[in-house]
Amino acid sequence: MTQEKDTAQDEVRAKGEGTEQAIEEIYADAVHWHVNTGGETIHAMRIGGRFRRLKWYAGALWLSYFLLPYVRWEGQQAILFDVPGRQFHFFSLTIWPQDIWMLSLVLILLAMTLFGVTAVAGRVWCGYFCFQTVWTDWFTWLEDKIEGNPIQRRKLDAAPWGAHKITLKLFKHAIWMLIAVVTGVTFAAYFTDAFDLWYRYITLDAPMVAWVVLAAFVFGTYVFAGFMREQVCFWLCPYARIQSVMMDKDTIVPTYDEARGEPRGKVKGKIERGDTTARGDCVDCHLCVGVCPTGVDIREGLQEGCIMCGMCIDACNGVMGKVGRPGDLIRYTSRKELSGERLPYWLKRPRVLTYLTIFTLAVSGITYGLTHIPPVELSIVHERQPLYLQMSDGSIQNKYTIKAVNKTPDDLHLRVSIEGLDGVELRIDGGHEVLLRAGKLIPIHAYLRAMPTQLSEENSKIRFVFESVGSPDKISLTKGSVFIGPKK
Ligand code: SF4
Ligand code: SF4
Repeated sequence: MTQEKDTAQDEVRAKGEGTEQAIEEIYADAVHWHVNTGGETIHAMRIGGRFRRLKWYAGALWLSYFLLPYVRWEGQQAILFDVPGRQFHFFSLTIWPQDIWMLSLVLILLAMTLFGVTAVAGRVWCGYFCFQTVWTDWFTWLEDKIEGNPIQRRKLDAAPWGAHKITLKLFKHAIWMLIAVVTGVTFAAYFTDAFDLWYRYITLDAPMVAWVVLAAFVFGTYVFAGFMREQVCFWLCPYARIQSVMMDKDTIVPTYDEARGEPRGKVKGKIERGDTTARGDCVDCHLCVGVCPTGVDIREGLQEGCIMCGMCIDACNGVMGKVGRPGDLIRYTSRKELSGERLPYWLKRPRVLTYLTIFTLAVSGITYGLTHIPPVELSIVHERQPLYLQMSDGSIQNKYTIKAVNKTPDDLHLRVSIEGLDGVELRIDGGHEVLLRAGKLIPIHAYLRAMPTQLSEENSKIRFVFESVGSPDKISLTKGSVFIGPKK
């Protein structure tokens, strides 16, 4: 980052606004910057600026991905997808398969966040936070440090193989591979004890599934971020294809101010501030193309390849500073604003409000779910074949299968009883007190008997009551069912 050219306008002006030297500098490299046609590796130039800094900050949030598996909470891994135990641990919370409905709400929430952000500010997710573009940004930064700037890299690529080229390439690929390995191990560490996993990888004692996950991630990271780069955005990412349906004329996206920039043309000689020649402000230096990680020319309008990272804005602002013209020839703006209309407050847009409403409902549902996770999950199935049995003493018997999952970290003793039908007799295999092992599901077979004279209707509503015995935290749960007798 330290070697990136700082093109902040103030600094450039300090060197001499609009001097011939500054203009020559602008055009010196222009010949190297051309639009991506898909046939070669894009070597984007790295230029400092507001949006470059923002991209670094946003990408830095991904460092938490590498750190979180090592965080401990109440004696265990804070975030753990325990697949064999069918549990998801998130700090003090434990989510069970029975609570999986919350996962669908989480997916809806994420989708609405993405749609809402896209409706307001286009593909900023892609430009600043998507793991593909962030990892690619890290990889190309390393490439820049090791092999030099884009022009030097192209020369190196074209040069014959020698000791210098081999050393640089080996060093670069070794570091890329190291990042890919750490990325893969980290992903696997969310599914098992992170420290133990490292030990088992190092001692070659990891299970086969861990090796498969690692291999998939190493391959994906190394190939996608190191080689395919922006081609993933062009050819593999479905989001690039569906983004247009979420954007409208109010969406703020990096836009070239055509009315101000055209007709574009190269400048010659010294330019004074306020110079208004017949030409527009675009000096046709191609720097906006040179810095673009996807190699598009923003001057040709919004394109599928644009990930809205704002790098072209930083670049163009630097050029405008050098030639003494106002900045923001390329800027984040909407079509409406560009055509002179007033930008509505972002909330006053039906599609944003719709996304926000669904988002709020999803958050409410998740909050409710998380605060109402029962300590024991119960399901009761009434035996259907037969619905009831008439016993030799004339009584009617119904059979039930109760499935109980103890979601607490401790074993529980529960006493089972019946409410709602006077005189009904409960029998449970193993007794009325059942032991629920921590984190386990157990089936309980229960039988109810009643004399026909006790039944006032064919279907009598009953309630199974489960109360904890001996545990400090009193647990009392009821679950409704039905007692079926002969037709009345
Ligand atoms: S838009 Fe700006 S960076 Fe792009 S060619 Fe014109 S002057 Fe250069
Ligand atoms: S055109 Fe500009 S905003 Fe779009 S991807 Fe290229 S540099 Fe980023």
